[in-house]
Amino acid sequence: MELPVAEPGTERGEGPLIQCPYCDSEAMHKLAQILLPGLAAVCVDGTTGDPFHSPSVVAVDLRREMVDYITQRSESFIADALIESEANQEGPDAAVPDDPFEAVSVFMDDFGSTKRNIIGHVSGWLLSDSRDDKIDDLVQEMEATRFWPLERREAVAETLLKNVDLRTRFHCPEKYESEARLADHKQQCSFRPVACPNDGCRARVSVRCARDHDAACPYKPLQCEQGCEKRLLRRDMDRHCVTVCPMRPMKCPFGCDSSFPDRDLEKHCAQFLRPHLIKVLKAIHKKARSEDELKDLALKLEKVRLLTHTFVNELNIHCF
Ligand SMILES: [Zn+2]
Ligand SMILES: [Zn+2]
Ligand SMILES: [Zn+2]
Ligand SMILES: [Zn+2]
Repeated sequence: MELPVAEPGTERGEGPLIQCPYCDSEAMHKLAQILLPGLAAVCVDGTTGDPFHSPSVVAVDLRREMVDYITQRSESFIADALIESEANQEGPDAAVPDDPFEAVSVFMDDFGSTKRNIIGHVSGWLLSDSRDDKIDDLVQEMEATRFWPLERREAVAETLLKNVDLRTRFHCPEKYESEARLADHKQQCSFRPVACPNDGCRARVSVRCARDHDAACPYKPLQCEQGCEKRLLRRDMDRHCVTVCPMRPMKCPFGCDSSFPDRDLEKHCAQFLRPHLIKVLKAIHKKARSEDELKDLALKLEKVRLLTHTFVNELNIHCF
């Protein structure tokens, strides 16, 4: 049965239309990322318990088969979705799945299930840790040997993305009669790629995604979140905040309940010298004296000024 899938613009009866080539490069990249573990899973499931084949030996053939299979599925994706919605008597809109990543994952799973051997079908295997470990190992091996380099996966991913992204959230659907008009459009196209302006970041993102990328870009220079003077890259922020930031929250080393920025430690110690002394003395004279006696003793010690912060700190080290 021929399904009435109208190509936008073709009904005008003019020459063949040229489609804008741009798509959301981050989405394409993300899709390319899931292809490798997808293939590794198929290779592992297909050879588990098979003494004659290792997963990496079957990988070459399975890669070709898998790419053919998922590409074909992506091409008939819209038709399949319409058939399903008719069968379920839903409106046409209900039929349009809007997550390309989920769609491609389903294609890969379906392909994988046709390749599973006996053990691969045994219940529990698919959820087992040893399966996950084998898949991880194979992915690492494939990455190390550049078995299926990212650039080549991205080319596959681009085709898949354009085929299954029915709501055109991740690729540009515009088509034009002439190269000249297409060229004009490309200058304005919201999917046109731009380089991330942050130093060190090599991402190229669609104009429409540039703001989202910037809000998450690891190379974006930011003011310290805890409010110290320092400007640093987003990717260094967490470490800075817990290790060297002078504003990182400290707990009092004497065990009072207050917490304060690291740089205020001395100020805090000076301010709470007496309560700290009492705590120290309590630790030394565990049972001997009453609260009042200890307060008295602290007062005397404070007056004698024998205990500087350093000394108190030392006591702290020895006594707690
Ligand atoms: Zn465009
Ligand atoms: Zn960036
Ligand atoms: Zn800081
Ligand atoms: Zn304190």
